[in-house]
Amino acid sequence: MLQQTTVATVKPRFRRFIERWPTVEALAAAPDEEVLSEWAGLGYYARARNLIACARQVAARGSFPSTEVELRKLPGLGAYTAAAVAAIVFGERAVVVDTNVARVVARYHGIGQTLHECFDEIRKLTGDMTPSERPGDFAQAMMDLGATICRPKQPDCAICPLSADCRAYASGAPEDFPATKKKLERPHRHGLAWWIERGGAIWLVRRPAKGMLGGMAALPGPEWGDEVPAGPSHAIVAHGFTHFTLDLYVTRRTEPVGDGWWQPIDRLAEAGLPTLYAKAAQAMLSRKEDLAA
Ligand code: SF4
Repeated sequence: MLQQTTVATVKPRFRRFIERWPTVEALAAAPDEEVLSEWAGLGYYARARNLIACARQVAARGSFPSTEVELRKLPGLGAYTAAAVAAIVFGERAVVVDTNVARVVARYHGIGQTLHECFDEIRKLTGDMTPSERPGDFAQAMMDLGATICRPKQPDCAICPLSADCRAYASGAPEDFPATKKKLERPHRHGLAWWIERGGAIWLVRRPAKGMLGGMAALPGPEWGDEVPAGPSHAIVAHGFTHFTLDLYVTRRTEPVGDGWWQPIDRLAEAGLPTLYAKAAQAMLSRKEDLAA
């Protein structure tokens, strides 16, 4: 849950999730739709889909694998997570490199390229630094050092335990290491969503399992594209995804489309709409209130 999401946002959601599915077996047995609904609003829904698939694999084999190589085979576990679990939980001397660790290592060794350009070198250097004794504690210490002392801006070198041998510190400009990648402009896309309302309920559909917001509840509508949809719209919702921004044009329609269900408006919060569609629904409902006022 914490991937790309702040601790403050995750805290209450994590508690609720764990209360609802306290064991791997319970999560493995849960229907996809319920887990995805519980995840609604947290974004990056591939994480939820991977979590379900991972829980099912672990439940089927009876326990978590205990090595980095085997952990890496589970759905959703990338190089970093597999190494972190192997080191922290199972004490394996795995090389754990997240962004914080990479920054510390790049600065310590005075590497001035972007992390993207020198990641293999950083990984090798981190491997050289990783001890056989308590590799999990070492990994967590490095992560904490990067998060709290060797911060991206204004690193607190005066209290850093690595300062005596740190090349970036010795250069007098530690912030210059590593180089930062230029931010690329995100492309902009347009989408259309239909607001189909009848008898105090809204017609919702489930998005295809693969692709953006895969498996999530949604307002129906065609694929998003580069063109502004033709015709009038009743609300326009701006939303930012990691790789593009989107304007979603919401327009009324009378007949339901696709496989879906009628969701009572007074229970819309239970539908598990991701933020984009929750914003669209909010825009349409407040518009209705304005007209009624
Ligand atoms: S001395 Fe400064 S730049 Fe070097 S690792 Fe410590 S906090 Fe980072």
